[in-house]
Amino acid sequence: MKKDIKHAVKALLRELVETPTVNPPGENYPQAVEKIERMLEKFGVPTRIVEAAEGKPNLIAKVGRGKPVLLFNGHIDTVAAGAGWRTDPFRLVEGDGKLYGRGTADMKGSLAAMAVAAASLAEADGPLEGSLVFTATVDEETGGQDGLGYLVKRRLVNPDFCVVGEPTGLNVATCEKGACWYRITVQGKAAHGAVPEQGVNAVEKASKITLKLLSLKFRKTHRRLGKPTLNVGRMEGGVKINVVPDRCVVEVDRRTLPSETPQAVRREIKEALASLRSKDPSLRYRVEEILVSQPFQSPEEDPLVEAAVESVASVLGRKPKLVGMQGVTDARFPAVDLKKPTIILGAGSLNQAHKPNEYVSEKQLLQAVDVFRVLAEKILSGRR
Ligand SMILES: [Zn+2]
Repeated sequence: MKKDIKHAVKALLRELVETPTVNPPGENYPQAVEKIERMLEKFGVPTRIVEAAEGKPNLIAKVGRGKPVLLFNGHIDTVAAGAGWRTDPFRLVEGDGKLYGRGTADMKGSLAAMAVAAASLAEADGPLEGSLVFTATVDEETGGQDGLGYLVKRRLVNPDFCVVGEPTGLNVATCEKGACWYRITVQGKAAHGAVPEQGVNAVEKASKITLKLLSLKFRKTHRRLGKPTLNVGRMEGGVKINVVPDRCVVEVDRRTLPSETPQAVRREIKEALASLRSKDPSLRYRVEEILVSQPFQSPEEDPLVEAAVESVASVLGRKPKLVGMQGVTDARFPAVDLKKPTIILGAGSLNQAHKPNEYVSEKQLLQAVDVFRVLAEKILSGRR
């Protein structure tokens, strides 16, 4: 297998990149899952498919048996290719030691590396003390509810330790920010644009709200995640240039630290709006919470973190950094819902994700296979 690893991981990555799984809409999932399934079956790894809904297959593969259970998870979907590519985004193109294509970094590269690590573990001599469960799941790019979220909620996976292969440049992320999304609908009063004083301009009021929210200062800080953030991502209002707008919608994306609760964040938003309203009685609005994604912090003294650091150090010859994940990933499902130690560890850089000319370094991809394999052996050898 050792000699075949390079071939196997690149071949699988090529097949995955050349099977576009752009989400939305979430295309070609069955075809992509089949590629992984076929590779694993070649190495005698039993797999099964769990569909959360039609056309949404999640693959579960298992090596070894019993406890503890180590979960390796990757998502099969990608964002759209977008403009600006120098190569075909749905072909794996090699150059300067890099492998280009949509999803190479986020995260078909690590997905292939995890699958190949599982296959090589199945081939190795000697029984494992526990099991490695590898899952390839759908819909991460749109929230993961039918993917890892589904497997966790239904307890179709019940791991003791979890590794999610998002790109960290083989550093170890032990924590992740959360997100609280709000839609604020501002109510105005329509009037002819020539007599604006007869109306209440919802766009003007929404602008005040936007500026107020953007001026909020956050005192809390986290050693790996930094400060919370707030972004107003969308504003929409008005129907016609000569009409005073009676409605304007503002969408707010507040990113949270593990020390913040959604309740406290909601209160902070509502208090900011109430302070505006106390000065402007004509300000009318409704606040809806449209998404809450919980942040998490895994204990850094956990054996999983220790084993991950040692595994990376033994493969790369240098210790990885402990880092924080700014974006929301599927790691929150096992970390928050199952309260299991969870890390994010994978090949490629997050700077590559969701951009044209996305790539993963071939060297790092191969290192990732070794890191995942060594990590599984450490956790499942009983020698922890
Ligand atoms: Zn991803």
